[in-house]
Amino acid sequence: MSEKGGKGDKIRLMADLLRSGATLTDLSCPACASPIFKLKSGELWCAQCQKKVIVVKEEEEAREIEILSALSQTETTILTKIWEINERLKAEEDPYEIQRLGSVISILLDNLEKIRRIGKSKG
Ligand SMILES: [Zn+2]
Repeated sequence: MSEKGGKGDKIRLMADLLRSGATLTDLSCPACASPIFKLKSGELWCAQCQKKVIVVKEEEEAREIEILSALSQTETTILTKIWEINERLKAEEDPYEIQRLGSVISILLDNLEKIRRIGKSKG
């Protein structure tokens, strides 16, 4: 009985990859968590799955999308709050309260500006 597909085989495959000029990266395969090799051609290769790995970049993109979506949700929340406070401000007659609401709006606008700046830098 040979060890086909066994651990010995994988180690041999990895050794072959290194011999062919591939280098070991500090990335791990998203599918099997094996270390990922960088082939001489520049492609990322998982010796365990026996296939090219492109998911690393996709994961990065997914993270970017997550951040952008969080930013846009925060933006919506802040806009809603500004609107709500503005409504209260319209009805408010107490100067102290008007000042207080005004400074809350000012803080919210600052945050809104920051969020939009981050969003822009992320494209
Ligand atoms: Zn893999």
